[in-house]
Amino acid sequence: MVRYVYDFSEGGRDMADLLGGKGANLAEMVRMGLPVPPGFTITTEACRVFLATGEPPAELAGEVATHLSALEQATGRRLGQVDDPLLVSVRSGGRFSMPGMMETVLDIGLNDLSVLGLGKSPERERFAWDSYRRLVQMFGSTVMGVDSALFEDVLAGVKRQSGVEDDSRLDSCELIRIVETFKDLIRERTGEEFPQDPAEQLRRAVLAVFTSWNGERARLYRRREHIADDLGTAVTVQTMVFGNHGADSGSGVAFTRDPATGRTGVYGDYLSDAQGEDVVAGIRDTVPLTDLEGPAPAAYEQLRGHMRRLESHYRDLCDIEFTVERGRLWMLQTRVGKRTAQAAFNIAGQLADEGVITMAEALRRVSGEGLARLMSPRFGAAAEGDAIARGIPASPGAAVGAAVFDAGEAVRRSAAGEQVVLVRQETTPDDLPGMVAAQAVLTSRGGKTSHAAVVARGMGKVCVCGASELTVDPAGRCFTALGGVTVREGTVISVDGFTGEVRLGSVPLADSAVVGYFEGGGRAPGDGAQQDVRDVHRLMEQADAVRRMEVRANADTPEDAARARRFGAQGIGLCRTEHMFLGERRPLVEAMILAHGDAERQEALGALLPMQREDFIGILEAMDGLPVTIRLLDPPLHEFLPDRTALAVRIAREEALGGAPDARDAELLAAVERMHEENPMLGLRGVRLGLVVPGLVAMQVRAVAEAVVVRRKAGGDPRAEIMVPLVGTVEELRLVREEVRRVLGAVSAEAGAAVACPVGTMIELPRAALTAGRIAREAEFFSFGTNDLTQTTWGFSRDDVEAAFFSVYLDKGVFPVSPFETIDREGVGRLVRIAVAEGRAARPDLKIGVCGEHGGDPESVHFFHEAGLDYVSCSPFRVPIARLEAGRAALDDHREGN
Ligand code: PEP
Ligand code: MG
Repeated sequence: MVRYVYDFSEGGRDMADLLGGKGANLAEMVRMGLPVPPGFTITTEACRVFLATGEPPAELAGEVATHLSALEQATGRRLGQVDDPLLVSVRSGGRFSMPGMMETVLDIGLNDLSVLGLGKSPERERFAWDSYRRLVQMFGSTVMGVDSALFEDVLAGVKRQSGVEDDSRLDSCELIRIVETFKDLIRERTGEEFPQDPAEQLRRAVLAVFTSWNGERARLYRRREHIADDLGTAVTVQTMVFGNHGADSGSGVAFTRDPATGRTGVYGDYLSDAQGEDVVAGIRDTVPLTDLEGPAPAAYEQLRGHMRRLESHYRDLCDIEFTVERGRLWMLQTRVGKRTAQAAFNIAGQLADEGVITMAEALRRVSGEGLARLMSPRFGAAAEGDAIARGIPASPGAAVGAAVFDAGEAVRRSAAGEQVVLVRQETTPDDLPGMVAAQAVLTSRGGKTSHAAVVARGMGKVCVCGASELTVDPAGRCFTALGGVTVREGTVISVDGFTGEVRLGSVPLADSAVVGYFEGGGRAPGDGAQQDVRDVHRLMEQADAVRRMEVRANADTPEDAARARRFGAQGIGLCRTEHMFLGERRPLVEAMILAHGDAERQEALGALLPMQREDFIGILEAMDGLPVTIRLLDPPLHEFLPDRTALAVRIAREEALGGAPDARDAELLAAVERMHEENPMLGLRGVRLGLVVPGLVAMQVRAVAEAVVVRRKAGGDPRAEIMVPLVGTVEELRLVREEVRRVLGAVSAEAGAAVACPVGTMIELPRAALTAGRIAREAEFFSFGTNDLTQTTWGFSRDDVEAAFFSVYLDKGVFPVSPFETIDREGVGRLVRIAVAEGRAARPDLKIGVCGEHGGDPESVHFFHEAGLDYVSCSPFRVPIARLEAGRAALDDHREGN
C-alpha cells in the first residue's frame, strides 16, 4: 500500500526522491542521534497526486492525523491546546534544493485562545503575540492569497506611530493591535475569517506548499537549474523551537567549510533572538558564528561537534540550519552544501588528501561548468581607481553592468541587450527574474547566507552582499556610496565577486590564473602557485588518466591550433577552410565563381592553391604528430560574394547620377541573383559544391597533400585527414573519394613518395545517419556535425530560431535547454547511436568523433562517451572542460550496476 507520510525516525538520506532533500536529511540526523525537533514528512508522491488531480490523495488526511497525534503524544502537548500548545512549522523540500522558492508557514497551531496559553507568563507574552503575528501574516499571504505588501504596510505604520525601527522593539499591546488589524485585512480581502481550527490551518498550509511548487518563481528557478517540473515537493511538519526567546536564543546557519573558498574552519552567520527566516532573509545584519560562543557556550561546543560528525558522515561540506532555544541547541536542517567552483575543486582535493574520498570520487564532485567558471576572466590586478564600496564576496567572478534597482528594470534592460547589475538592500524570492537577467547582484545588507548570496552562488552569478557603506534608495533609483558618491540608474559599475569591491565604470578584465596555467601547457604547478591552479591540475591529471575518449579541437589557424595543443588537445577534429577564402583572397574567390569556362576557373583556383597550402603548412606544423582533420569547403558560394542589396544600391546610384555602372558590379549582381537560394543551408553547399564546381576539391586536396610533402621535407610528422561535409548518400562520398585518390596519386608521383591521407565524412544529415552502414564502406572515419544534424533533425534553422522563438519554447518547457547547446538525446542522439552501430558493423575500425558545438558541452560529452565515440572536438577554450568531463563520464562505467 502507498504511504504518504513518514515519521522522521522512519527515513534516511537515501530517500530524498520520496522525502525531499530536507525530509531525508532530517531523518538521517535523527538516525545519527542529533537533536532534531520531532516531526514527519509528507511525500513528494502526495504532492504529485495533488498536482495531477487538484486534490490530495484521499488517504492523506487520515495519515496526517495519525502522525500528528503520535507527535502530540511524544511531545506531551496538543496542537491548539489552551495551555502551552504544540506549534509546528510546515516547510517545502523537494528532491533538489530550491532556496526560498516555495512557501513556508511557521507557528501553525496558534489561535485566539492558544496565544493566551503560550503567553501566560509575563516574560512570554510578547513572544506569544509576536509568534501569532508571524502566523497570521504568513498564512494570510501564502495560504489565503492576500498581498504581502498590505501586511508590511500595517507593520510599518505601527512602527512609525510607535517610533521604533526594528520589529523586535514592538511591545505586546502593539503586537495585539497588529494581529487584529491583520485579521480584519484578511476578512476584508477574502471574505473569510483567519481559521481558528489548528487542524484546518495545517491542512491548508500543506496544500499551499504543494501549490507553491508551480508558483512562478519556483518554475523559473527550475528552468534555470534544469530541475524537472514533475518531481513535486515533500512537506515537512516539525515541532517549532524558538530562537526568538531572548539573548540566549537565536538562529543561524553554519558551514563545515567555507563555501566560497573551501577552506576549513568555522563558517556561518548567527542572529540572536531571532527565528531562522530572519537570517536567510538578510533583514538584520548577522554576526559571525563564532560569536555564539559568548552567550551560549555549551550550544556552541555541541554545534561544533555536530558539524564535525555531519561532515565525516556525509564526507562532504555540509550546511546546517540550527536554532538555540534558551541555550539549548536544535538542528533544523542539513544538506550537502552549495559551493562556488573554487570551493568545489578545493574541497574535492582536500578530502582526497585526507583520505576521506578517493581521487575518482573527487573527480565526480567537480564539473566542467565549474572549471569554465574558474577559467572566466577577472578584473586585472591594476584595477583603476579606488573602490567606492566593499562588501562580502559571496559568489566569485567579475561583472560589469549598468546599475538597476529592481528586477523588472533588470529584465527589461537585459532583454534589450544591456548588461546590468541588480542593486538591492537585500533580495527576496521575487527578485529572481532580475537576478537571472543580471550579471551580478549587489546588496547593502545580509551575509554570506542571505538569500542573495545563496541563490547567486547556486546560479554561478557574481554576488557581493552586505556592502553596508551603500545606502540604496530603490524609489530614488540610486545608491550613495563612500564619500557621498551617488550612482544613478544606468551608471556602469564593476563588481568583483572575488574581493567584494565595487568600482565606478567598466574595469578591464584579465585572464584567470587557471587560464594562465593551461596557456603554460598544464605543467605541474610549483608550491608557490595559486591554490585553485593546484586543485585544477591534480583533477585534470586524474581526468586524463581515466578518460577513454580523446579530446581534439576545432581550430583553423596556426595560433588556435597551438593554443589548443597547450590546452591539451590531441589533434584537430575540425579545421574549417571557409575563413581561408575571405579577406584579401575574396577577389580570387569571386574570380573563381564568375569564371567563364574551365580555363578561367583553373586560373583562379591556381592562384588560391599556394595560399591554401601555406594555411595547411602552418596548422600541420602547430599540430605536428597529431591528427588534423581538414574539412573541404562547406558554405554556399554566394556567401563569398558581396551583399545583393549593397550591389543593387551601388548600381542604382551610378545610374541615377547618369553614369554607367561598373561592369564588374553588374556581373557580380547577376551572379548573386543567379545563385540566390531561399534556404541556403539546404542548398548548394557541402559535398554538393565539390561535385558541382569543377576543380574545387582537387585544389583543396592538392593544397593539403603538398603541405604534407613540405612538412615531411622539413622533418615533421604531418597527419592530415580529409573530411567531406554534408554527405547524404554514399554515392556522393564515393565520387569525391575518387577525386581525392586521383590528386593524392598525382602529388605522390610528383613528390616521389606516397602521400596518404585518410578520407572520412561528417555525419550531419539524418539520411547519412540512417545509411551509415553503406557510407562507412567509403569512409575511414565519421565525425558527427551535430550543429547541422540538430538543425536538420528538428527542421530548425539555427541562424534564425534561437533569437526568434527559443525563449518562448524554453518558457513553455518544450525543452529545458536549447538542443543546439546540449544534445537532444532522444532524437538527434538516437541518430548518433544508429550511425555508430551501423558504421562500426560495416567497418569495425571506423574512428568516430563529433565536431559540432556539443563536443564541448559537459552534458553532451557524457552522452558521446556512452554512445561509444572515440573523441570529441570543440573550441580550444573548451578543451580542458571536455577533458575533465570525458574523465568524469568514464567513471560512470564503473558505477555499480553498470
Ligand atoms: C556541424 O554541423 O556540426 C559542424 C561542425 O559544421 P558547421 O557548424 O561548420 O556547419
Ligand atoms: Mg555542418
